[in-house]
Amino acid sequence: MTKHIFVTGGVVSSLGKGLTSASIGMLLERRGLCVRMQKLDPYINVDPGTMSPFQHGEVYVLEDGSETDLDLGHYERFTHSVLTRDSNYTTGQIYLSVINKERRGEFLGKTVQVIPHVTNEIKKVIQKLAGSETDVVITEIGGTVGDIESQPFLEAIRQFSIDVGKENCLYIHLTLVPYLKAAGELKTKPTQHSVGQLREIGIQPDILICRSERPIPREDREKIALFCNVPLQAVIEERDKDFSIYEVPLSLMENELDELIAQRLGLNVGTHDLEDWRDLLHRLRNPDCEISIAVVGKYARHRDAYKSIYESLDHAGIAHRAQIRIQSIESEQIEREGPERSLGGFDGILVPGGFGERGIEGKVETIRFAREKGIPFFGICLGMQCAVIEFARNVAGLAEANSTEFDKDTPHPVICLLDEQKTMTDKGGTMRLGAQPAVLTPESRAAEAYQAESLSERHRHRYEFNNTYRQQFAAHGMLVTGTSPDGKLVEIVEIPSHPWFIAVQFHPEFKSKPTDAHPLFSRFIQAAIRRHSTHDDVPSASSSLPTS
Ligand code: GLN
Repeated sequence: MTKHIFVTGGVVSSLGKGLTSASIGMLLERRGLCVRMQKLDPYINVDPGTMSPFQHGEVYVLEDGSETDLDLGHYERFTHSVLTRDSNYTTGQIYLSVINKERRGEFLGKTVQVIPHVTNEIKKVIQKLAGSETDVVITEIGGTVGDIESQPFLEAIRQFSIDVGKENCLYIHLTLVPYLKAAGELKTKPTQHSVGQLREIGIQPDILICRSERPIPREDREKIALFCNVPLQAVIEERDKDFSIYEVPLSLMENELDELIAQRLGLNVGTHDLEDWRDLLHRLRNPDCEISIAVVGKYARHRDAYKSIYESLDHAGIAHRAQIRIQSIESEQIEREGPERSLGGFDGILVPGGFGERGIEGKVETIRFAREKGIPFFGICLGMQCAVIEFARNVAGLAEANSTEFDKDTPHPVICLLDEQKTMTDKGGTMRLGAQPAVLTPESRAAEAYQAESLSERHRHRYEFNNTYRQQFAAHGMLVTGTSPDGKLVEIVEIPSHPWFIAVQFHPEFKSKPTDAHPLFSRFIQAAIRRHSTHDDVPSASSSLPTS
């Protein structure tokens, strides 16, 4: 019988439910269990694919091409849980399915209602992950208890334990225990209120995970236990980690969370094997060098817009024992100030993906700077397309070259719409998405990085390199070194005469793991370290990720 863990959040959003859920998944997996993970999001979009990164942060793409919430990135980085379309449902998807059934006449004669029709649909998608192979399904409910949108999900998970038996379900609630400076103490009241709201709808949490910036004294934990109707050992502190998110699973383990879960659900668990994880934290804490990487994008001021890219840079840093100082820079800033001022002194420059015309010229200028100065450059998706535009304009002599995404009438459409996209009218879920194979040119830098002649990487784009220009580019020194197996779609370009210049049409950041850095990120960081050891200039601006 598959056991179910439901993770809800209260008091405020951004408590790190995704990270906590991923950490729980990891701890259980490391004790020998087969875990599947899922996120249920209360918004009405069918998926986050049509939302701006400013609204939603990164859209995380799975192997099967589904466009999902960025928390699924944490799930994949922390666990081996197989993620598919069934791993992320939204209110929009649930309703769409109920309404389609209504149109087909499946509820003929009945009034279709939130209870039972919508809640049944929600329970069905949770049940989809259960099965004889799966020991535990972890279902994270997006949003915060008390949100109007979350209610059908909470009602559904309440009913779920009646359906499958209380002994097979565990409710974990994440709350905030804030420190009030004026009072000089931690406050438990928000947690009490939040649990009160959950209990009002019929859910008594089994375990409370209390986020706090300070240690929570025993008296406060006792108070929370008493008012929230849980035993003291089920009040688990999760203190802020200012060093690394990869500390979270170990600290939850020290607070015996996985032990408690195993006991409560009667799980037959082995002992942990966490050596590799301890080793990665050790490497993070003891770097041999520090390098600085500029990420020049269109959504730089949103903290989560390039989440997987920041993580992948860190993974490569772990692999090479280098601390990576990442500075996220808006490409519009480059348009205003020029590249020299903002980018002087970085050891490597990465230009990530994006959509729409705003900030494109800043990206192109950034790439020109990286190319001309010999700074290691890594372009991803739109970053690759901009690298092609830059090369066309400034090296291949194709003035005004552009992507037809930004200039429909450009005289040199070096990036143009994929054939399959030309008749596409819908915007949702219609890009070239998910895992696609590619073949590599032997002895290219890309082949050397992958140590292979082929690869499979995840995609999310509508535009592509225009094959008409391949020869012309090659003649000027930019080579196509990766294509789709039929040779028709360009997947990788590189400039062999540059110290390290690779740009890819796919998104390698979705496949990097903390204990297994992605080969391209790894080689990029290696090149940046090489540059760092031969140049001692420092970045011109203070280095940090955006904070909000
Ligand atoms: N806007 C570009 C395209 O659709 C790039 C997409 C991306 O960077 N994910 O092809």
